[in-house]
Amino acid sequence: MKRIGVLTSGGDAPGMNAAVRAVVRKAIYHNVEVYGVYQGYNGLINGNIEKLELGSVGDIIHRGGTKLYTARCEEFKTREGQQKGIEQLKAHGIEGLVVIGGDGSYRGAKALTEQGYPCVGVPGTIDNDIPGTELTIGFDTALNTVIDAIDKIRDTATSHERTFIIEVMGRNAGDIALWSGLAGGAETILIPEDNYDMDEIVSRLKSGQERGKKHSIIVVAEGVMSGDEFAKSLKEKANLETRVSVLGHIQRGGSPTAADRVLASRLGSRAVELLMEGKGGRAVGIEKNELVDYDIIEALAMPHVVDLDMYKLSKELSI
Ligand code: ADP
Repeated sequence: MKRIGVLTSGGDAPGMNAAVRAVVRKAIYHNVEVYGVYQGYNGLINGNIEKLELGSVGDIIHRGGTKLYTARCEEFKTREGQQKGIEQLKAHGIEGLVVIGGDGSYRGAKALTEQGYPCVGVPGTIDNDIPGTELTIGFDTALNTVIDAIDKIRDTATSHERTFIIEVMGRNAGDIALWSGLAGGAETILIPEDNYDMDEIVSRLKSGQERGKKHSIIVVAEGVMSGDEFAKSLKEKANLETRVSVLGHIQRGGSPTAADRVLASRLGSRAVELLMEGKGGRAVGIEKNELVDYDIIEALAMPHVVDLDMYKLSKELSI
C-alpha cells in the first residue's frame, strides 16, 4: 500500500488529533503517503481531500477537537453515498482508509469494507462505548474534566449543605458516570446498564444527612434520564430539594491527557500497520494494555459491557 487516507467522524473526542498525527507520522516513516479527508464522510463524498505532510500534524498532539474536522452525514448511510466515497478515494489513488470515530463511524467503515474497500476503525469517543476495546480515545480526558467539575461542585455543595445532581454524557453507556462517580466520590451513581431503586437512594441520602453529611453528589448518566427529571422525581418522592448541573459539551473539549495521547499514538500506529499488512476491515483496540484487532463486522456485533464489579464497588465505598 503506497497511499492511505485518514478521517475523523461523528462526535469529536480529545486525542483524535494525536491519533491523526500517529497515522500520518507512522505512514510517512514507512514511505506511505497520507491524505487527510476533511469533515468526515461528508468531505469524503465531496472530495474534500488533501495530502498531509509531516508538518501538517505538527503542534497538534496536545490540542482537543480534530484538525480534520468532523461531521455527520446522512447520505453516507446510503449505498449511493458510500459508492461516491469509494470513487473519491480511488480518484485520489488512496488504497485504504483509517476511520477515527465512534460506532456510527465504524458502521460507515464496515459498509466500505463490505464493498471491498479496506478500512480500519480506530475508537475515538469520550463515551467508551465501542466494542472490541476496553478504552476509547477521549474517555480519560472526559473523566478528568468531569471529576474537576465534581470537585468544584462538592465545595459549593458542602458550603450550602446541598444535594447536587450532576448529569454527564455517555449516550447509552454508563462508563463516564461510573468512572467519574467513583473517582469523584459520588454518593450515588445512576447508569443505564443497571436498574436503580429510588427508595434505596432516598434512604441513603436521608441516613447520610442524619449522620451529619454536609453534601451529597449524585451522578446521573444521560442514558438514564436528564438531571432535571431525576431532581423532579426526588422532589415528588421524598420532598428532597436538589440542585442540578448539566456538564454538557465541556466534556468533549480540552487538551488530551497523557493517557489519551499515548493510547491515540498506539492505536493510530497500529491501524497503519494493519493496512500496510494488507489487513483491511479491522477495528483496533486495547485489552489488558495489549493492542488487539478484530474484524470490524464482528466487533460491531459484540456487546459493550460496563464493569458491574466496579459499580458494586462504588456502592460499597459510598456508604
Ligand atoms: P459516532 O461515530 O460518534 O458514533 P454517529 O453515530 O453520528 O457518530 O456516526 C457518524 C457518521 O457515520 C454518520 O453521520 C454517518 O455518516 C456514518 N454512519 C453512521 N451509521 C452508518 C451506517 N449504518 N452506515 C453507513 N454510515 C453510517
